[in-house]
Amino acid sequence: MNEEVDLKERILGKIFSKDSIFETIKDLCLMGSRFSGTESEKIAQEYMNKYLKDIGIPVINYDFEYQGWIRGECKFSIVSKTKEYSFPAISLVLAPSTNGETIETNIIDGFGGSETELKRIKNSTPGKAVMIHSGDTEEGWLHRRIKYANAYEYGAKVFVFANHNPGQLFPTGSVRSNRIGEIPAIGISKESYEHIKEILRKEDVLTCKIFVSNEIPKLTSKHIIWEIPGKNKDEVIVIGGHYDGHDIAQGATDNAASIAAILEISRLMKEVNYIPERTLRFVAFGVEEFGVVGSTIYVNDSDVADIVGMINLDGLIGHIPKHITCSGIEELLVKVKELKNELLYDPKITNNIISASDNYPYFLKGIPNVCIFGEKPDPRVGRGYGHTSADTFDKISRLDAKISTAFAFVFIDAFSKMKEMPKRLKEAEIIKILQDAKLEDNLRLLEKWPFK
Ligand SMILES: [Zn+2]
Repeated sequence: MNEEVDLKERILGKIFSKDSIFETIKDLCLMGSRFSGTESEKIAQEYMNKYLKDIGIPVINYDFEYQGWIRGECKFSIVSKTKEYSFPAISLVLAPSTNGETIETNIIDGFGGSETELKRIKNSTPGKAVMIHSGDTEEGWLHRRIKYANAYEYGAKVFVFANHNPGQLFPTGSVRSNRIGEIPAIGISKESYEHIKEILRKEDVLTCKIFVSNEIPKLTSKHIIWEIPGKNKDEVIVIGGHYDGHDIAQGATDNAASIAAILEISRLMKEVNYIPERTLRFVAFGVEEFGVVGSTIYVNDSDVADIVGMINLDGLIGHIPKHITCSGIEELLVKVKELKNELLYDPKITNNIISASDNYPYFLKGIPNVCIFGEKPDPRVGRGYGHTSADTFDKISRLDAKISTAFAFVFIDAFSKMKEMPKRLKEAEIIKILQDAKLEDNLRLLEKWPFK
């Protein structure tokens, strides 16, 4: 048998013959959230360093500074004509405190928080606490940071972000990237949202009280970087995924499981002495959940001349089938579709552009990049359990852990030995792709538009 095929089949066999991926997922989940600035983040860094050292792979730790944020107390209540109701709530990440005071203001429904929805109520938004749900807007799905920016633009005093999925779960997430937001922002459950809307319907005008105290120190974090040298050492494929999660959860599917997958793949490549066509550079990114902060700093700060492709794994495990997005790059889409026969089963392949994950800084350098994640059965659930306390390891099946890791491995193998990589994009081509996808306005709002 051809030796290369043999090695590939041995790796696939080893993925299925043990539960080591699932064990690593549990290790990463049970050590804590790995949220930036917490003790568990450091434990995760040490864990990855030790894992790789133990299997004989040299590791680089890349340190960087960022705007930190530490969660404090959050109190939220509604004052109706007859009674004061207190509702459980949490602050969103990078949202400011109320400076030791309790904000008292009227609360209104801002629906999905799109431009159209807020424009319609623009006379009532200034100075109010505006409730915006995490579900689809009238114009389709919008990222939370866009909804926050919209609420701020329309004069909201507080952003109240309501989960659209049931289960008494608070949604979290950052409100800005690498800087503190302008107005306090809290997350409430769908059930609280429905309750408040009902009181609002009966009373017409409703007051709320909000108190939040968070700390905002400057902090440092690190990326963990390692390589499997290829036959061609001049061309590098980056395979990345973020290891940080949100402080209220284990961050199992988002994104401990993807990290477990790349550790397992690296371990097995090393074990069977697999030599890829091009060098594979694995990066476990820190501080993604603060708005793709860590990878942006790293990509802008390092020499990317030898990088010919980037594969980002964010939410790889948790759902089947897999969805591969090709960032609006036509040549890449064609070439990825050609790999289909090698991929064990049919993934969904689209030309969607993901700007809220670690592939985006590479895209802005023109590097052909894909993002791979498990496609949820119903897009209306949005993140589902993601960014809530329910994103825990028990939601992941051992079988999915194996199938997804096997899928990632065959994709990495096929992608890295493409005869000719798609060419790097020039700035004008990047701009055209983003404008054609009608993303410019939103990216400017998100401060993710580095062009003039
Ligand atoms: Zn993620």
